[in-house]
Amino acid sequence: MELVTGGAGFIGSHLVDSLVSKGLKVRVLDNFSSGRQEFLEHHDGTNNVEIVIADLLDLDAVKSAMKGIETVHHLAANPDIRLGTEITNTDLQQGTIATYNVLEAMRHNNVKRISFASSSAIYGEASVMPTPETYGPVLPISLYGASKLASEALISSWCGTFGGEAWINRFANIVGPRGTHGVIFDFIHKLKKDPNRLEVLGNGLQEKSYMSAEDCVRAMVHLIDNAEEKVSLYNLGTGDTCSVRRIAEIVVEESGLDNVSIEYTGGDRGWAGDVPKTSLDVEYLFSTNFKPKMQSEDAIRYTVKELIKEIGL
Ligand code: NAD
Repeated sequence: MELVTGGAGFIGSHLVDSLVSKGLKVRVLDNFSSGRQEFLEHHDGTNNVEIVIADLLDLDAVKSAMKGIETVHHLAANPDIRLGTEITNTDLQQGTIATYNVLEAMRHNNVKRISFASSSAIYGEASVMPTPETYGPVLPISLYGASKLASEALISSWCGTFGGEAWINRFANIVGPRGTHGVIFDFIHKLKKDPNRLEVLGNGLQEKSYMSAEDCVRAMVHLIDNAEEKVSLYNLGTGDTCSVRRIAEIVVEESGLDNVSIEYTGGDRGWAGDVPKTSLDVEYLFSTNFKPKMQSEDAIRYTVKELIKEIGL
């Protein structure tokens, strides 16, 4: 049995689909803060997915959900980087302490394998681009990035002290159907509110890598089977980037709306803690014989089409 924390969320629910398609039984632990029942409802009545509604901050609940687990896929976290500009303890609680509870519950139940959803946010404003896994010192500039880096350190120290295997995956921006946050989701909601005007935070020159959720979870599962280190560390991305300006244009193109004025608020970043340019070096991932099916712009266009269907315009 596999445990997916945050399995009712955007990426988590895609991972559940992927594990089930491999013939594995999955237990989902989620507090449904941003997760949704409907992302898993196609598994209802199949016996493949068991849902535990619990909070990772409740250590006893996590310990009991850990019983009989082979591998933990730890994805639950606050996904909203911007929130840290207003509330300063969310990432500490939902990121760092939540990861501590997962590891402590694993130790208690002798569970030895953990795959973790980390982020390119740990690199902060890196001076080397594309940024390899060996880049350092890593100095995050968001509270979210700090919580991911702290979680990576806890996972590695747990393996060093109590034994076990870990797969730490530093994700690029992940996009796809069931997205509930992020730039594409925001743009579609803005156009729904005002079909004549699309406000873009920053100057639109922010540039990042975008990977489809399907490719992301395929890479996570692939690395568990193929990475050889006790604690492996991989960037997960596509190797290319796309600008926010281009994303705005694609959203407008796919919306079918005429006369949309795209307006930029100015400045080099969307908000304090936003890294304006990220580019992940993914050669290490590619050396394991993994290739993404979609490059950044394809993943974005596909996501725009799917989210317009889900959200409506
Ligand atoms: P999401 O919000 O859809 O998923 C998070 C899930 O965790 C949700 O289902 C939520 O209900 C659950 N959750 C949150 N706090 C919890 C708690 N205390 N106890 C139990 N469940 C809790 O976000 P996502 O985009 O699918 O992100 C999944 C993971 O990937 C996160 O760890 C996120 O930081 C990481 N990540 C995402 C991206 C991205 O672009 N989406 C990029 C880098 C890393």
